[in-house]
Amino acid sequence: MRYIIFDRDGTLIKHKKYLHKPEDIELIPGSRDIILSFLKKGYLLFLHTNQSGVSRGYFKIEDVKKCNEQMIELLNINSKIFEDVCIATDYPPGLDSYRKPSTKYGLELIKKYKIESSQLIYIGDNTSDLETAYKLNCIGYGICLDKKNSFLDKDIVTKRFNFTIHDSLSEIKNEIIKNDN
Ligand SMILES: [Mg+2]
Repeated sequence: MRYIIFDRDGTLIKHKKYLHKPEDIELIPGSRDIILSFLKKGYLLFLHTNQSGVSRGYFKIEDVKKCNEQMIELLNINSKIFEDVCIATDYPPGLDSYRKPSTKYGLELIKKYKIESSQLIYIGDNTSDLETAYKLNCIGYGICLDKKNSFLDKDIVTKRFNFTIHDSLSEIKNEIIKNDN
């Protein structure tokens, strides 16, 4: 059994600063395909999203949930997609925070589903997504759609964490399938 934790903004949907309106949600190419492929393979999928806009007072957690629902609607997949969703609203992060790069959420999943860390994958567009994976000793894949506006520190991600960075979700899908044997 394999487990994938997806980041949301910049990974499954286009990154827009403090996005909180469902009508502004646009899927990233390949998002439906990667999700469908791994659901069919029986992987369990999770969503872990940092949404500091809530604690900054820019929008409410209900807005985040509505945006998640809109994303799920646009993905148009006829079954449950995410086994569980974690919305980290706090900023600055407290000691007990779920905000990535906190490992709190990952550790809870590892315990609940009895996951071996080599079976757990984080996919994200931010160094903090991959730092979370690194600290959990699991696998991380970086997605970078726009090299000019990247949230990934290439040196840290590739040299320190030893993860790869890809310019499309389909490339990541193929990598995971290749390494799945
Ligand atoms: Mg992101």
